Amino acid sequence: MTLTAEPTTTTAVATHCPYCALQCGMTLSPEADVTPRQFPTNAGGLCQKGWTSPALLRSPARLTTPLVRTDGELRPASWDAALDLIASRLQELRAEHGADSVAVFGGGGLTNEKSYLLGKFARVALGTSQMDYNGRFCMSSAAAAGMKAFGLDRGLPFPVTDLADADAIVLVGANPAETMPPFVQHLRGANAKGGLVVVDPRRTPTAEQADLHLAPAPGTDLALALGILHAVVADGLLDQSYVEDRTSGFDAVWRIVAGYWPEQVERVTGVAAADQRRVAALLARARNAYVLTARGAEQHATGVATVSAWINLALALGLPGRPGSGYGCLTGQGNGQGGREHGQKADQLPGYRKITDPAAREHVASVWGVPAESLPGPGRSAFELLDALGTEGGPRALLVFGSNVVVSAPDSARVAERLSRLDLLVTADLVLSETSALADVVLPVTQWAEEDGTMTNLEGRILLRRKAVDPPEGVRTDLDVLAGLAERLGQPAERFPTDAETVFTELRAASAGGPADYSGISYERLRDGEALYWPVPDERHPGTPRMFLDAFAHPDGRARFEPVEHTGPAEPPDAGFRLLATTGRVLQHYQSGAQTRLVAELNDTVPEVYVEVHPDTAERAGLAHGDLARVTSRRGGTTARVRCVGSMRQDVVFLPFHFPGAQRANLLTNPALDPTSRMPEFKVCAVRLTKEDGAE
Ligand code: SF4
Repeated sequence: MTLTAEPTTTTAVATHCPYCALQCGMTLSPEADVTPRQFPTNAGGLCQKGWTSPALLRSPARLTTPLVRTDGELRPASWDAALDLIASRLQELRAEHGADSVAVFGGGGLTNEKSYLLGKFARVALGTSQMDYNGRFCMSSAAAAGMKAFGLDRGLPFPVTDLADADAIVLVGANPAETMPPFVQHLRGANAKGGLVVVDPRRTPTAEQADLHLAPAPGTDLALALGILHAVVADGLLDQSYVEDRTSGFDAVWRIVAGYWPEQVERVTGVAAADQRRVAALLARARNAYVLTARGAEQHATGVATVSAWINLALALGLPGRPGSGYGCLTGQGNGQGGREHGQKADQLPGYRKITDPAAREHVASVWGVPAESLPGPGRSAFELLDALGTEGGPRALLVFGSNVVVSAPDSARVAERLSRLDLLVTADLVLSETSALADVVLPVTQWAEEDGTMTNLEGRILLRRKAVDPPEGVRTDLDVLAGLAERLGQPAERFPTDAETVFTELRAASAGGPADYSGISYERLRDGEALYWPVPDERHPGTPRMFLDAFAHPDGRARFEPVEHTGPAEPPDAGFRLLATTGRVLQHYQSGAQTRLVAELNDTVPEVYVEVHPDTAERAGLAHGDLARVTSRRGGTTARVRCVGSMRQDVVFLPFHFPGAQRANLLTNPALDPTSRMPEFKVCAVRLTKEDGAE
């Protein structure tokens, strides 16, 4: 297969990196060469992933023709043949088994326009409630906790550059030195003042830079937050007037937290009581202070409660809604923020509206030109949806856009087994990812630099990503794919536009009046370089860089303390599985690695899964640095190269989750779900470590 990324313009295009939510500014030349660009989030910096991002535009692994499985093999087919086949199979399944027999799975890397049109396609063209997306695995616990506390969820309710003036920052379960390196410069102000605290079971590159590293046992950071909050109150550091004037519910929280004195919490977490008190004092005495959480706090069966515990701490110190201070969640995927606002989620409609809200249904249905009663209700959450595939009463067909669930979902062997039961699996993909390799039909689609679209970064700022190069011949945009399928399913062509700006104009109308109101944002304003943070309710509105300065989004304007208790991991260690495994990311790879594993500079550096382990723990298992180890949980096992790391806790092992096949860390992970967010417990499961041949 040959491929060239031909220039569509003769001048360089100011754009943004295709990967994480920092959305670093970069310039792409007509020859598809990248140079970093001054933009507030990256200030001229790029990480290795950003520098090498154009490599995938020219990759020989790019798909350039639809593939249809025939006699067990994926074989090239024409677009018409592929789309006709999909549409006729979907119609048969819907006629025989009902609309919910077809499911749709989206991704947090899709542009706002794609997220929006995908949600509309599912609800209108397919009429299915069975739709969710991989953002459920990444940000949904912080979103739910933010909704409870503040009445609204925007990852960072302030520009990232505000962090530079902080005296103290507590970073919980985040490793930006590897996941988004240019972000680290925003921590330097606090670092220089001795005020950077990192909470992480591992001594990550971020923790290395911290002034204080707290290493709680995996699954105990909720207890740690309660211990620090106890110290705040016991040491007379509570911001009494803020709590009285701007919040409600503190007394119920204190009734629980009173029992979590730091010495007690030390026994649960392993974090010294003196360090808990030190953090309390550091935050309380700082002029400007922030508490920031990320996946380490969220990816638990108690993820919402854990994030709520850290928000409670921030509220007790009077940080949220105060200029120069606050609480925020570091969003991970490129459009993790926008992707959760415009209707890919099982329970949402565009504008961050609830699909169960009659007024929201009326509004969105009127924009879509359909009766409100025709819209389905909420569907299954991401893992529950994948787990139901091919089972009695579950979906029999799945359309996947922008996600590689075989690698990224928890208990991934079970997910692969469920996919194998489907009557029809369709993917829209750049390359033959591990999920596409199982599909019945694969549709080759464009990527970031080959199409227009908007992204919403981790600050809630909307960015225009403009087309810079032509896609390879034979490739179509996701919007084209949705329009082609919708028309074959009997929808009027004008209901599914293929031009990104036209879709965005409709998205604006659909979001108008909703919590994430984009109605005042236009491509023209974005082209003019305006820095627009939602909500932007009209075209003269300057946007909302800082939220909650006057009031929180609950009807009474107050933030709410949420009473939460520590319960620990869903799967504690026992005699058969004595260690705790935690999973995460490395600098060189992004998410399931489907893209970055194809970039030689990245993959050559980290080509395979490894397991980080304390040297004594390795020795007890008869292993040494460089050996192959077998890591086994109750769900399955993976073979990984041993890396002995002296700073690891002796009861913990760590594996990155970017690798395919038998190297999948998610063969181990526990799909226990948070009761509110339905996010799985990626961050902790019980495992045993043995020699690769299985000998103990
Ligand atoms: S991966 Fe993230 S941090 Fe790295 S260049 Fe891209 S946007 Fe920036």
